Amino acid sequence: MTENVVIIGSGPAAHTAAIYAARANLSPVLFEGFMAGGIAAGGQLTTTTDVENFPGFPEGISGPELTERFRQQSERFGTRIFTETVNKVDLSKRPFRYWTDDQEGEAKALIIATGATAKRDDIPGTRDHELWQKGVSACAVCDGALPMFRNKPMFVIGGGDSAMEEAGFLTKFASKVYLVHRRDELRASQIMQQRARSNPKIELLLSHRVTNVGGGNGVEVVTVEDLKTQQTRDIPAAGLFFAIGHVPNTKFLDGQLRCDEQGYVLTTPGTTQTSVEGVFAAGDVQDKKYRQAITAAGSGCAAALEAEHFLAAH
Ligand code: FAD
Ligand code: NDP
Repeated sequence: MTENVVIIGSGPAAHTAAIYAARANLSPVLFEGFMAGGIAAGGQLTTTTDVENFPGFPEGISGPELTERFRQQSERFGTRIFTETVNKVDLSKRPFRYWTDDQEGEAKALIIATGATAKRDDIPGTRDHELWQKGVSACAVCDGALPMFRNKPMFVIGGGDSAMEEAGFLTKFASKVYLVHRRDELRASQIMQQRARSNPKIELLLSHRVTNVGGGNGVEVVTVEDLKTQQTRDIPAAGLFFAIGHVPNTKFLDGQLRCDEQGYVLTTPGTTQTSVEGVFAAGDVQDKKYRQAITAAGSGCAAALEAEHFLAAH
């Protein structure tokens, strides 16, 4: 049987697409993945504690609970959900074909919502069972405003535009932000570098690396090493944010959709249309700028509406 719409992914983009497609009587199928991209079904929000900026939850809501609610809403309207990772697709002709470990099938339209995975370095103290999400995070916009960070020193690791942006954002709350980069030169654009360099609350630690993060229930101290002198020192701090890039989950596409040099799917501006007609992309897999649950959900809605129009026209 050829499905109308197959949605690949399980974050806010995938489930919003599923809700809209199901309510349009398209009987969508959703593959939520099994630890795809190293993340549980539900996506990046399953790796965080409180989400305080998703509208509709004035008291905040835990990331895993929010993703469970997305899933329940998709199912309520009849989405068929499989906990399987799509390993391969054939987009060379319609209907498109897809394969998981357990099944293969055909779809008239595809929505790619496989997200991205924030990179983390394996620094002692930052692992899942240690201080991850207890002061260590990979999303300053999401977690930086938490009361635990108010008027305390914080760390950002990275030398790109994200690191500059996150450091600047954190200065609204922190007493000081240490920006640690492994080289002498920043990768960030000149304008972003300039902003960071001229911010009196940001101290650049170039040619440095973080070697340890210590604390009990939260981050208390960060150890840095000067890579030129090999000297280490301990600096008191309440938080540490990785801003060392993301990896979009697009390997399984095997180059069949046009992507940028980092692997993000390219869409026609203002739409979710990819380089292959009938294949739409939504969420962080095609967005390296905003990377928020609400923007992912918004583009998931757009993808479902565009898929509906596409199916009506064909
Ligand atoms: P993702 O959430 O990236 O999920 C996609 C999922 O699809 C993958 O994780 C995987 O489970 C599945 N998948 C991948 N490949 C396949 C495949 N081949 N087959 C089947 N399934 C597959 N945003 C906010 O708005 N507020 C916050 O407070 C907030 N906190 C955050 C905290 C952390 C620590 C992180 C890392 C991010 C946070 N974000 C927050 C960002 C937010 O989580 C993302 O912007 C959002 O989840 C992106 O949604 P998405 O739908 O694109 O997919
Ligand atoms: P980038 O890949 O541009 O930068 C990642 C940074 O992290 C680099 O400085 C890199 O170091 C460093 N890094 C990578 N791995 C490690 C590691 N294991 N340990 C320590 N440091 C590490 O990613 P960004 O997320 O910053 O940006 C992604 C894209 O998004 C870019 O195109 C950027 O321009 C864009 N962007 C634009 C913004 C804006 O214009 N407002 C805001 C945010 C992003 P090294 O330099 O040595 O490789």
